[in-house]
Amino acid sequence: MIKTNWHTHTKRCGHAIGEDEDYVKAAIEGGLKTLGFSDHAAYKTQVPTERMNISQVGEYMASIRSLKEKYKDQIDIYLGMEVECYQSEWDTLSQFRKELDYCILGQHNIDLDLISSYGLNTPQQLSMYVDRLEYACKHALCDYIAHPDVCLYSYPYMDESVRKIAERIAKISITYDMPLELNTGSGVHNGMHSYPDGKRYAYPTRIFFEEFAKKKCPVIIGLDVHNPELFKTDTDLNRALSVVEGLDLNFLTDYDLASSAKKRKELFY
Ligand SMILES: [Zn+2]
Ligand SMILES: [Zn+2]
Repeated sequence: MIKTNWHTHTKRCGHAIGEDEDYVKAAIEGGLKTLGFSDHAAYKTQVPTERMNISQVGEYMASIRSLKEKYKDQIDIYLGMEVECYQSEWDTLSQFRKELDYCILGQHNIDLDLISSYGLNTPQQLSMYVDRLEYACKHALCDYIAHPDVCLYSYPYMDESVRKIAERIAKISITYDMPLELNTGSGVHNGMHSYPDGKRYAYPTRIFFEEFAKKKCPVIIGLDVHNPELFKTDTDLNRALSVVEGLDLNFLTDYDLASSAKKRKELFY
């Protein structure tokens, strides 16, 4: 098991299980030294199966902060969120950015409740997805990009359009010194899917990481845990690593994301 994980959910998002404290205990048991909570950010509309409601944000923050104190001798806990770049929600996002230790960007929709990143199937849609990532980096909204390849979830072919998008994301990563995540969550946990050009995990996707390796983009492993038990096994981690086997990736091991977030937050606008 890795020692540092910045991508952890709680049951508030409606698709994770277990109490907050169960995640802390399991992380300690699994050998983690640094645990970042990054539950799905709340916005003005409610989607109880996707993210917490605005009314739960205060309680979420209080719960994680009290666990940080309670377990401070055993593990370093940080309070974050997995946010999307939605310009319509900028006031809410700027509040989160100010209050939280860090933010990771998981662009699950192109716009709030519109065009799921899990359903993209044209180069134009991929390009809109990357536009959001670019805007988020330019405005220092996030400290790393979670599952940058989630946009390929439904994409039918691993063709040149995919490589072009990967090149663009790699360029953004280098321009803004923005780490990209190798995600070991549901993309591998749920097994391989069949696509018109063969079987693969929904994400991570090798063609993306080939481009990330070429440009030496910083890469951080994120467990994207929605079940505390998954801190105790390396099965999904090994699946994700098998996707990028043989690539010369610039892994940031035990990276202090909270410190880099402190500096980035100053640049947010
Ligand atoms: Zn989730
Ligand atoms: Zn996500």
